[in-house]
Parts: sequence; structure tokens; C-alpha cells
Amino acid sequence: MFYLIDSSAVLNDFGFQFVPEHKYVTTALVVNEFRDMRSRHLMENALRQSVLSIAEPKKQTLNYAGDLVAEKGFTRLSKPDLSLIALAIDLKKQGKKFILITDDYSIQNFAKILEIPFESAMRGEISKTITFSISCPSCGKTLPASSKERKCPDCGSRLRRKMLEK
Ligand SMILES: [Zn+2]
Repeated sequence: MFYLIDSSAVLNDFGFQFVPEHKYVTTALVVNEFRDMRSRHLMENALRQSVLSIAEPKKQTLNYAGDLVAEKGFTRLSKPDLSLIALAIDLKKQGKKFILITDDYSIQNFAKILEIPFESAMRGEISKTITFSISCPSCGKTLPASSKERKCPDCGSRLRRKMLEK
């Protein structure tokens, strides 16, 4: 099997091993997150044995992923997270069969939205897709999740940000 791997999978799972029969790929930004001895050691060995390789998403896919994440109202995704999502989009476009391994719920959420198969290493998988809505508690006006407004443009009340599960 071909796995796209997130740092969370390796960092959270102390029993994690790269299986030489499989192939793994990730981005340089994700590799930089392997800072402790155990995960660095695992990663360097896997790179040396060509079990793990590093690939970069296309710049335009990275931009697209950034826009999508902002549009859905997610603010907690890091640059490594974004690079991973973008690479997943690229691999899918190329018709590659792969599974994304991540314990990060935000990344899992985007895997769901983008219909990318994923597995979790330790923490389990989300069953619902999360989106956000922004609305005014006073007049009921709703704004797109990507909105940066803090106050209602109609009545000036403080806007409420709500998490929706589907
Ligand atoms: Zn209002």
C-alpha cells in the first residue's frame, strides 16, 4: 500500500514502524516536525531505505488548499498540515491509490471533504464532517464561514461562531 503520512501518526504512536513492504510519502514541512530522537531515527532510516520519500505539492494546489481551508472557516491548520492536504489533492488528481494516515482531526475533516481515504494511527477517526457558521444572535444575519468580521454589519452585535457537524 502507498501511504501519505502525517507527523501526528508517528509522534502519537510510540509503536509506529515503517513497514518495508509499503511505500510512504510526505512533505518536507511534515518531515521537519519529526524532532524527537525516536521519530527522527525512524524517519531517517526509512528515507535511507527508500521506504519513505519526500514530495512537494504543486504551488497552485497549495494555494487552492489554502483558499479551501479559509473558505471552510478553519484557522488552526499549520503550514505542514496545508502542505499535506495539498499533496493529497495532487496525488488524487494523478490517480494514485493511497491512504492518508493522520491523527489530526482537522486534516481528517478535509480528507472527508475532499473524499480522500484516510486512517488514523491512534486517536480514532472522525465520523462527522465539521464546518463553521457565523451568525448574528440579535438579528439572525448569517455570514460565510470565511468572514473575518467580528461584529454584525447590519446591527453591530457581536457575531457568534458555531461549529456544525454533518
Ligand atoms: Zn445583526
